[in-house]
Amino acid sequence: MAVISNVSCPVCGCLCDDIELVVEKNVITKVRNACGMGESKFLGYSAHRPLKPLIRKNGELVETSMAEAVKKSAEILVNSSYPILYGWSNTSCEAIRIGVELAEEVGGVIDNTSTVCHGPSVLSIQDIGFPTCTLGQVRHRADLVIYWGCNPWSAHPRHIERYTNFTEGRFRSSEWAHYLSTLGSYRAQKRMQRVAKLSGVIGEVCALEATSVEKIEHLPPELLQKKRKMIVVDVRRTRTADIADYFLQVEPNKDYELLQTLRALVRNEDLNVDSVAGISIEVLEDLADVIISSEFGMLFFGVGLTMSTGKLRNIDAALSLTRDLNEFTKFLIMPMRGHYNVTGANIVSTWQTGYPFAVDLSRGYPRYNPGETSVVDILSRGENDASLVVASDPVAHFPKGTVENLVKSQLIVIDSETSATSLMADVAFPSAVAGIEVEGTAYRMDKVPLPLKKVVKPPKGVLSDQQILQRILREVRKIKKAKKAQEA
Ligand code: SF4
Repeated sequence: MAVISNVSCPVCGCLCDDIELVVEKNVITKVRNACGMGESKFLGYSAHRPLKPLIRKNGELVETSMAEAVKKSAEILVNSSYPILYGWSNTSCEAIRIGVELAEEVGGVIDNTSTVCHGPSVLSIQDIGFPTCTLGQVRHRADLVIYWGCNPWSAHPRHIERYTNFTEGRFRSSEWAHYLSTLGSYRAQKRMQRVAKLSGVIGEVCALEATSVEKIEHLPPELLQKKRKMIVVDVRRTRTADIADYFLQVEPNKDYELLQTLRALVRNEDLNVDSVAGISIEVLEDLADVIISSEFGMLFFGVGLTMSTGKLRNIDAALSLTRDLNEFTKFLIMPMRGHYNVTGANIVSTWQTGYPFAVDLSRGYPRYNPGETSVVDILSRGENDASLVVASDPVAHFPKGTVENLVKSQLIVIDSETSATSLMADVAFPSAVAGIEVEGTAYRMDKVPLPLKKVVKPPKGVLSDQQILQRILREVRKIKKAKKAQEA
């Protein structure tokens, strides 16, 4: 039995690096410190996984050798004129680096999953700039944390515990004890709601809940106290909103208006409206006061902001608000990145090509024009003639029309799991799990690189994403060289 400590969790953008694993006979038997999502990945990563490369013959996926799968994949990529290489946020930076090299070699488009999550954030950051810091600084210094359009209690379960209000920082105390003391009344309230629901008066309860936010005319004065505070801004009450000091319910698709209003209030401008985005001006004036009176404020935002109406303009407004606030106090901003290495995918792509996603290498040099060179747009126009998907499942998540175009041409998939995409593939490679069976590097959501550890050996014959990509790249070069010799 071996106990391995300081393991990074390869699940969400928090990339918690304090995980402790007990390994017995090459099997992880115990996981300590992880949340439910992390624990289930470490304990269940090897269930129902493919172990042999598959190739489509007569319409059916059949087992094949690694050599044949590599050869077939290389031929598909060399013979295509506009292949797309997509995914990359659930693998190591080392594998992504080979992916960029392969995209250049075959003259394809390399894009990562940020194209459908925080792509707008990346575009805005390029336009406006990015006043940010590390999560360590938030942990030790932030006295006001705003979660806007995100729900970390469910999607990044240890974010609050490790980096914000429930952690003991050097200069800030944890609010965990306070939360526990209020838990009793919160549970009683929930119980009453359940009882009301069962007794058929849920309509009235919902109506009360819906109006309670709008009825408030001022923010609670406790928000001006010198202690850690958490405010949640969202279109609906989430689990994170339940534990926050204050929840601000914004009307759907009105975040831009709300952010610009806050900018005006912060600059002490008069507004001749009574409410914005369903929130009274009095409450927004109080909110501006709370933000300005903080010593170190942090705004975390999620896809609720990037993928609602306004998209990158919402992020423009959030970044501009942050910039404005630095005239009065220290205020910073950070996107809540989803997959554990989506930040790494942006960083590797930038350091290799100059651009963070949607990079078109078909002309022999990088071109970047999201909306034209992004994978969803290429697929919706049906321009691709082959695809390579690494550690991602676009068939399950992309719009129907784009999926039809994805599977129309030949599709290669490299993934440690069986997915809807791998079932549609012409060649499917099983791969070893980065961060469990393969070591490497990944970037946390605050752009801090962390090591991924190898804690168990992969099954015999199962290679890492990096090794598979390297083999395909070698084969591509071999075929191209042979073609050139033939032409000469
Ligand atoms: Fe893993 Fe994210 Fe949970 Fe941390 S919060 S243990 S990175 S799933």
